[in-house]
Amino acid sequence: MNGEPLVLIAETWQRELAKGFRDPGELLVYLGLADDVRDQTHQAAAAFPLRVPRYFADLMRHGDPADPLLRQILPVAEELVSVPGYVADPVGDLGVSIGGGLLQKYAGRALLVTTGACAVHCRYCFRRHYPYGTDAAIRHRWKAPLEVLSGRPDIVEVILSGGDPLSLSDENLRALINGLEGLPHLRRLRIHSRLPIVLPARMTRDLIEMLSRSRLVVSLVVHVNHPREVTLRLGEALAPLRREGIVMLNQSVLLAGVNDDPQVLAKLSERLFDVGVLPYYLHQLDPVAGAAHFQVDDDRARALYESLRARLPGYLVPRLVADRPGSAAKVPL
Ligand SMILES: *Cc1c(COP(=O)(O)O)cnc(C)c1O
Ligand code: SF4
Repeated sequence: MNGEPLVLIAETWQRELAKGFRDPGELLVYLGLADDVRDQTHQAAAAFPLRVPRYFADLMRHGDPADPLLRQILPVAEELVSVPGYVADPVGDLGVSIGGGLLQKYAGRALLVTTGACAVHCRYCFRRHYPYGTDAAIRHRWKAPLEVLSGRPDIVEVILSGGDPLSLSDENLRALINGLEGLPHLRRLRIHSRLPIVLPARMTRDLIEMLSRSRLVVSLVVHVNHPREVTLRLGEALAPLRREGIVMLNQSVLLAGVNDDPQVLAKLSERLFDVGVLPYYLHQLDPVAGAAHFQVDDDRARALYESLRARLPGYLVPRLVADRPGSAAKVPL
């Protein structure tokens, strides 16, 4: 993963990030689980390394090998099994580049791959094989994506994605956001991030000020899969954004052994709402190589969704969607 130069580790969150777990054996010992990391786990970790901040590891249940938070991040042997239909680029990212690190699939909005770095490595990530090295746009003060966007007045919303855009420093984000604000046709800025969830300390005062003072209409789409990820600490970290009126949404991925249970999904929506976040999407897993063991088939996904509708007010039911390459939008199931 190609992060930023390490010379700027000044902020608390950056120090916390640097201290995160990167070794599966060390994490298992920390969680009171036998260190039975076999060769295959090491192989899985070699292909896509383990990475998790201590804050998030502390939300896992001690001594529970089936913990739903642990399952999201622990490299396992099943990842090495090749399953037909599970490929490196399941959502067709590579065919929709418009240059400068920008991907466009849908009308009016484009997604900027800002960096390959993430605070946590999610085993089901659909970009786990993405060739960030060739497309990350961070270099030269964002000149390349800004040039592309200045010639595209039809694009009114930019989505910062990655990797995780909030793994960039505030300084680097400010340069990018300033540049985007200078494009007169641009109206909305959306940030897709899992960082507030796995490292709430990332929500610095500088960042919050930057977002709330922008001339663009800013929204934050977080990524939470399980209700235990929604903590008091997260609520505190998001409260200033809520006060500033920044719209906060959540997207989850439907994951076997993590959240494929209507009670878990209902509790997730309710806890999110408690901290000012509305459910947006519940994604059917993208068939990315190495993640087949997380798959919930479409019929079960629909049944779970119906059961969720029967439990919650409509505004707490996320849209169940799949990303099908070539479609004009995410496809409802
Ligand atoms: C998912 C996605 C979006 C966002 O879609 P919305 O329906 O607007 O949330 C935008 N661009 C790309 C390339 C995407 O994959
Ligand atoms: S934080 Fe997002 S981009 Fe990073 S590994 Fe997890 S799912 Fe993938």
